[in-house]
Amino acid sequence: MKLTYHMSTKVIMGEKCIRDNAELIRGMGKRALIVTGASSAKLCGALDDVTASLKSAGKSHVIYDKVMNNPTVDCVYDGAAIARREGTDFVIAIGGGSPMDAAKAIALLARQIMPRKKLFSGEFGTDVLPMAHVPTTAGTGSEVTPYAILTNDEIHSKQSISSPALFPKYAFLDVRYLNSLPHQAAVNTAIDALSHAVEGMLTVRAGIMSDLIARESISRISACFDALTGRSLDKENKEQLLYGSMLAGIVIANTGTTALHSMGYPLTYYKNIEHGRANGLLMAAYLEFLNTHVPEKISEILSLMNIDSVNSLRLLLDKLLGGKEAVTLKEIEQYAENSSMSKNVKNTIYEPSVTDMQGIYRQSFKL
Ligand code: NAP
Ligand code: ZN
Repeated sequence: MKLTYHMSTKVIMGEKCIRDNAELIRGMGKRALIVTGASSAKLCGALDDVTASLKSAGKSHVIYDKVMNNPTVDCVYDGAAIARREGTDFVIAIGGGSPMDAAKAIALLARQIMPRKKLFSGEFGTDVLPMAHVPTTAGTGSEVTPYAILTNDEIHSKQSISSPALFPKYAFLDVRYLNSLPHQAAVNTAIDALSHAVEGMLTVRAGIMSDLIARESISRISACFDALTGRSLDKENKEQLLYGSMLAGIVIANTGTTALHSMGYPLTYYKNIEHGRANGLLMAAYLEFLNTHVPEKISEILSLMNIDSVNSLRLLLDKLLGGKEAVTLKEIEQYAENSSMSKNVKNTIYEPSVTDMQGIYRQSFKL
């Protein structure tokens, strides 16, 4: 029996869960830094709920709403400077994976000043501002992971900061915040969550507990395939996606991701393709590659999705993702080389070579 499991975030899910749990926020500190993007926190109602809860708990706050999609290293250094200048002693992140990840790096840098190189080394202390995370997408699971993924121009890709100190203290999941999410964003983020649960089962670190949670996550997310293709997500579907995405976050918190995520990062960095969409564009060819090496794993994953073959999954993803971006052979060579540097490749149950990765890209983009 093989098992390693850790999760230190308290998860609270339910409508109005932030307003109903103001006493938890009361214990976090005196002055909050709210970290968010330009508009979604206001649009979906989460910002009002958080500020009302802070007010009822007698806490002051400052808002840092400059987090862009795929946040940069500059962005988190800016946020940390504001956290220090304003004397904030806890962080509330509201948004998709971008603000939630940025908030983790800001909470770290607010307490520990360090040069950029050291940030990605993981060689820092455990002194980090306490954090509460409020997801407004159902995709990244960042509310329950110890990872912050930033755009690092020095390596021309995205790179992860990872430390057990980066687990948020609380995650508040309220399905109402998904109501303002555009349909295609719901699709892309659902595919990201699916990808986390699927990849978790395809890592060298997978164990019986992460597999147990991954199976539940894949089943919950896959039960929404019809509503995702039919553009008819109802409240129950959204709850399943939010729950499934959080479960998938717990999976990768314990297993990490695989070469599929590594291969998606250059697509985001160079082509500005959304993170979940990038994974979705590559997923069928990636599973087909692994099917020749670990067929029993792939067949279990497909049966959890209630899908009979990798080809049926490809058709489903094509329908969900629509027309594909143009990618050249030269770009593919560069992306495969770039991906091969990522440590997630070594975490894959059967490690693809650079040539294998070129083949997966070529098949995905029909070159
Ligand atoms: P995102 O980049 O956080 O947000 C994408 C867009 O959706 C933004 O324009 C955002 O607006 C908008 N949006 C978010 N919630 C909305 C809502 N409820 N209503 C309307 N618009 C909304 O998207 P994401 O896919 O959730 O996160 C992707 C990031 O997470 C990537 O950087 C990826 O690398 C990272 N990630 C992290 C982990 C982890 O374990 N830490 C795992 C997977 C992925 P605003 O700009 O106004 O907020
Ligand atoms: Zn992801």
